[in-house]
Amino acid sequence: MKIVCVGRNYARHIAELANEKPKDPVLFMKPDTAILPPRNPLYLPDFAKDFHYEVEVIIKINKMGKHIAPEFAHRYYEEIGLGLDITARDLQSELKAKGLPWEKAKAFDNSAVVSPKFVHKTQFKNLDELHFHLTQNGQMVQQGHTADMLWKIDELISYISTFFTLKKGDLIFTGTPAGVGKMNLNDEFAGYLEDQEMFKIRVK
Ligand code: MG
Repeated sequence: MKIVCVGRNYARHIAELANEKPKDPVLFMKPDTAILPPRNPLYLPDFAKDFHYEVEVIIKINKMGKHIAPEFAHRYYEEIGLGLDITARDLQSELKAKGLPWEKAKAFDNSAVVSPKFVHKTQFKNLDELHFHLTQNGQMVQQGHTADMLWKIDELISYISTFFTLKKGDLIFTGTPAGVGKMNLNDEFAGYLEDQEMFKIRVK
């Protein structure tokens, strides 16, 4: 399986990193080895100093598709999860400045926290109105609302599938809202989708 991630999908997050607003979705990928095994603590690697959390809504693809039209995209997923796109921000800034690919800063081992459970989409009234948030040691640090996405879930699936065939089990990280910040040793993070706890991890 693969993980396709969307960058710069929330206007206020684009502003906080002083990025340009893209004219098309920004995409990058993480390999399956990026997934933090469930219940494992997160050991921060030593190749960077500034690791950021980015809480994101995750879509699980349920069948193969390519060139999916936006109006049919809803047929390609049933379950919604929540996760962290962990980013070595100092390394990413270096790579961005040189115009180099981001993989070392975004796709390293354990850089993808994926909630152990997913919620069937019929549990929600409207996927374009989902609230989610992240706590760091019990304090809310990031909150998002899918209504603020520049590209909505179905548009993302359609756009992604023009480049990459989507297969059952693939995950889409749909972008992070404003409020990203640094992860510290011994921090505990918990992610909530509509007030339901979806994951909890500790940093070591
Ligand atoms: Mg992200």
